[in-house]
Amino acid sequence: MSFFSFFKKRKAFEKLVGKFKKGRELKFEEYLKLGNYYREQGLYSKALRIHKSLELKKGLSDEEKARLNKSLGFDYFYLYQYRSAIKHFEKADDFFRGEDEEVRSGLLKAYEFSGDWDSAIELKKEIFIINKEYSDEKMAHYILIAAEDMIKRGNRKKAKKYLKEAMKLKNNLDEIFLYMADVEENPFKKMEYLEKIADKYPLVVYKKIQDLKMEFFEKGKMEELLGFLENSENMYFKLIYVSLLLQKGECEKAREILESFPIENENLFLNLMLLPLILELDMSESAKQISYKIEKKLKELEFVCTGCKKEYVNFRLRCENCGEVNKVRLNINF
Ligand SMILES: [Zn+2]
Repeated sequence: MSFFSFFKKRKAFEKLVGKFKKGRELKFEEYLKLGNYYREQGLYSKALRIHKSLELKKGLSDEEKARLNKSLGFDYFYLYQYRSAIKHFEKADDFFRGEDEEVRSGLLKAYEFSGDWDSAIELKKEIFIINKEYSDEKMAHYILIAAEDMIKRGNRKKAKKYLKEAMKLKNNLDEIFLYMADVEENPFKKMEYLEKIADKYPLVVYKKIQDLKMEFFEKGKMEELLGFLENSENMYFKLIYVSLLLQKGECEKAREILESFPIENENLFLNLMLLPLILELDMSESAKQISYKIEKKLKELEFVCTGCKKEYVNFRLRCENCGEVNKVRLNINF
């Protein structure tokens, strides 16, 4: 919007507000706009009151009713009253037959925020199909969001159901295993899921295993955990195994594993995990080599703008390519 038209709009609304305050009769159109104007200013209760007063007006056409329902939907949405928002958005959507994109996205958000993911998934699928953007992979990713939200809300059963649905659509999504590990009760099953994604999400898996360690310990199943880690082919799991051995004082066994560990690896995170273990065992020759690798890798680290993906050698606050501020982050590929 240009400055001039913004100015004109402001003036027009000031006039409307004046009329409203003087208690003069306003037309449907004026009321609707006035309420929307208040909502844009963040005055949601005021917007709702004005729109609600319009509901009582007699002789509204079906189209006017639908536009009023749309406005009421947004008023309730911003007041966190999602059930009411859904009711009004659904009525508006019925009238517009899905052709008003604002109504559709408002309805979708209201379903999501209220936790009604069954309806959200159905609607999202419809939107994908209408826009000719549907793919099983996209749908699976969307259903994963539903699962994540259910995990946050503490509803494991529902989360599991969504994970299964996502898996049916796309069975090789790594992220599914990440969430499976969250909803799974059996700690060994959890470990199996984490093992599948350790290479892609080493930090996440590392943190999750630290929490799991406590779980195994409390259940008196530490030996079983050690057995699982010992038999794993995954390098991260092997290093976690070594650190547990050191904690138990089994230095010889730890040394044996580390001596056969592929020292030539260029993986920064693996080397960062490896270094303290090697120092603890006084393997100074290997420690030198690994320190050198870490230093080299740290020097190679680049920064990347998370907005436009432009890479930089040095940090900057403002991206010179897209102009965004505070979007430049360290680019680490483990
Ligand atoms: Zn940028």
